[in-house]
Amino acid sequence: MEKRALDGRTALITGSTSGIGLAMAQALASAGANIVLNGLGDPDEIEVLRAEMAASHDVEVIYNGANMLAPAEIAAMVDGAIEQFGAVDILVNNAGIQYVSAIDDFPEDKWQAIININLVSNFHTIKAALPAMKKQNWGRIINLASAHGLVASPYKSAYVAAKHGVVGLTKTVALEIAESQITCNAICPGYVRTPLVEGQIADQMAVHDMSREQVINDIFLVAQPNKRFVEVDELGQIALFLCSPAAGSINGISLPVEGGWTAK
Ligand code: NAD
Repeated sequence: MEKRALDGRTALITGSTSGIGLAMAQALASAGANIVLNGLGDPDEIEVLRAEMAASHDVEVIYNGANMLAPAEIAAMVDGAIEQFGAVDILVNNAGIQYVSAIDDFPEDKWQAIININLVSNFHTIKAALPAMKKQNWGRIINLASAHGLVASPYKSAYVAAKHGVVGLTKTVALEIAESQITCNAICPGYVRTPLVEGQIADQMAVHDMSREQVINDIFLVAQPNKRFVEVDELGQIALFLCSPAAGSINGISLPVEGGWTAK
């Protein structure tokens, strides 16, 4: 087999049992990276996913079900991957949840879970993965922020706060590792059609008493000038680009991938 761009590298993608994380895992595996899958879901279905990914891309794929609410589980997952593969060369902080509510009704447990899963878990994975990256003087950290890391929408206070936090964390880590061959960047997608967005469509239908089509056109795509959802495969290819030598000087950016939403 011809040598692939990421042969010998290992990528850990949080929340990769679904949606964007899964597409990123597939893209990185297709370039030869060994994969650490993570996320919630049915163990039998995850095992099918793991085995298929390993077989179709001829790479090692392992699964660790660390809960992003549990710092000790996060550290153990990263440490285990480093022990098995030598380093987590590519870390994709992708796990995330959403909850939509006016702030005066926002349940405190939902607020805390969004902050912890969408933001605080990134601190724990980076803290655990960085020493081995520094030792080998190479690494790629990719944080899934959001267009909501750059601009706000009403009723998403916890999510917008967490994603703005991810953008700030990305810039800070980028400065701390700037003189090494490690980069840390954020990707800021607009609306991507994944299970997370399907859930939001259902929520908005209930909140506004609107049809599915009305919610898609009048609430979601109204923000996105190109009037289409972002495709998960587009994001997989962007992750691959950020891992390439051509992206070696790209550090600390928050890349909008939202059809022009934040250009308005
Ligand atoms: P998704 O719901 O399809 O996938 C989320 C993943 O996170 C799943 O694998 C899930 O199991 C995992 N996860 C959730 N809670 C977890 C926990 N406590 N511990 C471990 N894993 C957990 O969502 P998605 O749309 O693919 O979103 C992925 C990321 O992209 C999120 O950070 C999200 O905020 C961000 N994002 C999504 C969109 C979009 O439109 N879908 C837009 C911008 C940013």
